[in-house]
Amino acid sequence: MIAIDGSFGEGGGQILRTSLALSLVTGKPFTIENIRSGRSRPGLMRQHLTAVCAAMDVGQATVNGAEIGSQRLSFAPQPVRAGCFHFSVGTAGSATLVLQTVLPALIVADEPSSVVLEGGTHNPYAPPYDFIDRVFLPLLSRSGPSFAARLERPGFYPAGGGRFAVEIIPVPQLCGFELLERGELTHCEARALVAQLPRSIGERELTRLRKGLSLKQHNWRVEEIGQSRGPGNALVVELVYEQVTELFTGFGERRVTAETVADRAAKQVGRYLAAGVPVGPQLADQLLIPLAMAGWGKFRTVKPTAHTTTNLEVIKQFLDVEMSIERVGDDAVEIELNGERR
Ligand code: ATP
Repeated sequence: MIAIDGSFGEGGGQILRTSLALSLVTGKPFTIENIRSGRSRPGLMRQHLTAVCAAMDVGQATVNGAEIGSQRLSFAPQPVRAGCFHFSVGTAGSATLVLQTVLPALIVADEPSSVVLEGGTHNPYAPPYDFIDRVFLPLLSRSGPSFAARLERPGFYPAGGGRFAVEIIPVPQLCGFELLERGELTHCEARALVAQLPRSIGERELTRLRKGLSLKQHNWRVEEIGQSRGPGNALVVELVYEQVTELFTGFGERRVTAETVADRAAKQVGRYLAAGVPVGPQLADQLLIPLAMAGWGKFRTVKPTAHTTTNLEVIKQFLDVEMSIERVGDDAVEIELNGERR
C-alpha cells in the first residue's frame, strides 16, 4: 500500500488528485493522510470529494474516508471501466480539476468514454475550461488519444452551474514528446468573458491589456454570456505559436477592478513572453502525469513552481520514473522524464 503525506510540499488538492489518477492508471491502492493540510480549510472540499467519487466510479474502487472535511482517505481500485460518466461538483468548485483526475486512466482505457462535468468552469487557481480545450487536450493528443470538448455553459464562483462535455478516444499506450521551442507567434486572441455584468467591465479590461502588452491583436473582443447561473468575469489571453498554444487568465472578483484583472493577466503573459519557453508554469505541472505515463518526455518551462516539484514527487510514488531539471536561462529550465512506460 502506497502511503501519501498530503501535507508534503505544496500541500494542496493536487497531491490527492495525482494520487487518485495514478492509482487508477497503475491499479496500486494508496492511503493519504493530512489532506490539504497546507490550506486554511483543510480536508476534502466539494471539488475534491467529487474527484474522489469520480475516481471511485471509473475504478470501481473501495474507498474509506470520502466525506467533506476528511483529512484521511484510503483508495483501492479495480480495473478501469470506460463509458459514459456524469460528475457534478454541486457547488462552484472546479469541474476541470475533476476531469483531470480521471483523464489519465480514461486515455489509456480499453474503450472510448464520454464525460459530462458540472460545477465551476472558470475558477481562480484552477485551469479554466478554455485552457483545457485550447492548451491541455491538444497537447495530450500528441501522446496519442483524441478528444472533442464542448462548453455548454460557463460556471463562475460563487453560483457555479457550468457544464461541459469531453469525448475521449483512448490509445493502448501514450507516446512521449519533446517541447523545447514555441516557434513563431501566429495568433494572439484576448476574450473578456462577461456574464450578468456590464459589458464595460470587459471593455476596460481589453483597453488596459492593450496598454500592458505589445502584441499582435487578432480578434480581441468582449464576449457577453447569456446563459450562466450567476455573474462572472474572466479575461482569457490565448497565444498561438507554431509549436504550442498557451493561455493565461485574469479572474474577475468582487472589489477587484477591471484594470487589476487585466494587469494580472498581462503579468503572466509578460513573464511567459520574456522567458522564451513553450510551457508556462501551470501547464508544466499538468504535463508531468501524461509524460511520466509515456515513459519519456522533455520540455522547457519557467522556473518550476511548488505544484511542479510536489507533483514530481507524488508521481514517483506510483511510477518508476526519473526526472531531471536543468537550468537553461534566467527563468527557464528543461525538465526531462525517463522511466517505465505504463
Ligand atoms: P487547494 O487544495 O489549493 O484548495 P486545489 O485542489 O484547487 O487547491 P491545487 O493543488 O492548488 O488545487 O492545484 C491547482 C491546479 O490548477 C494546478 O495543476 C495548477 O497548475 C492549475 N491551475 C491553477 N491556475 C491555473 C490557470 N490560471 N490556468 C491553468 N491551470 C491552472
